[in-house]
Amino acid sequence: MEADGGTNRSGKLVVLSGPSGVGKSTICRQVVRQLGASLSVSATTRPRGRREVHGRDYWFLTREQFEEKIRRGEFLEYAEVFGNLYGTPADAVRRQLAEGKTVILEIDIQGGRAVRTMFPEALLLFILPPDEKVLAERIEGRKRGEDPETLRRRLDAAEREIEEARGFYTKMIVNDDLEKAVQEVVEAISQ
Ligand code: ADP
Ligand code: 5GP
Repeated sequence: MEADGGTNRSGKLVVLSGPSGVGKSTICRQVVRQLGASLSVSATTRPRGRREVHGRDYWFLTREQFEEKIRRGEFLEYAEVFGNLYGTPADAVRRQLAEGKTVILEIDIQGGRAVRTMFPEALLLFILPPDEKVLAERIEGRKRGEDPETLRRRLDAAEREIEEARGFYTKMIVNDDLEKAVQEVVEAISQ
């Protein structure tokens, strides 16, 4: 019999999804600080935003580099979102789970679906905006300089995504008051 009574000590896997601009990164940073959790850094082919740092916010790759990693099976999951590829590096996630850490994946709902299939015990959290107007303001507030068409596409996608997520996410959390939303996420993970 193992010392822990046969239960494995693998850390908790948490998926945090929500429309672009809803506040996922902001919430994640605070949750990571409060819980000492580990935030997975995804790879993407989209251009780096002005305030973003390679290796901290994303691994910014060319499409060729990304496709090579797909061929090598280096992603736990990957998906095309708004015309760009996004993927979760598998090694880092598996290693941290094996060390017993809580690992947070900030990924879209295609990724959430894939993770749920691979890890049925994963906690799937979805962050909702208070309303569409607030969401548009927050996307613009990030100052990544999206053109109006990209902004429109992101808002349209948000509505469809929210409906779909209601079908299979563990919990929906409204990000109106930031502190309250962070607390709800922390409580859901700590349960
Ligand atoms: P996402 O990671 O979901 O794309 P961000 O975390 O980058 O979103 O947040 C988008 C913008 O909204 C940022 O400028 C952030 O400071 C702001 N924001 C996040 N949560 C709140 C909130 N509860 N109230 C007001 N502004 C917020
Ligand atoms: P953004 O370009 O705004 O940073 O992210 C766009 C969308 O891609 C968001 O919904 C974000 O959660 C998602 N995303 C980021 N990384 C990954 C990933 O590794 N896998 C998947 N499936 N989606 C991701």
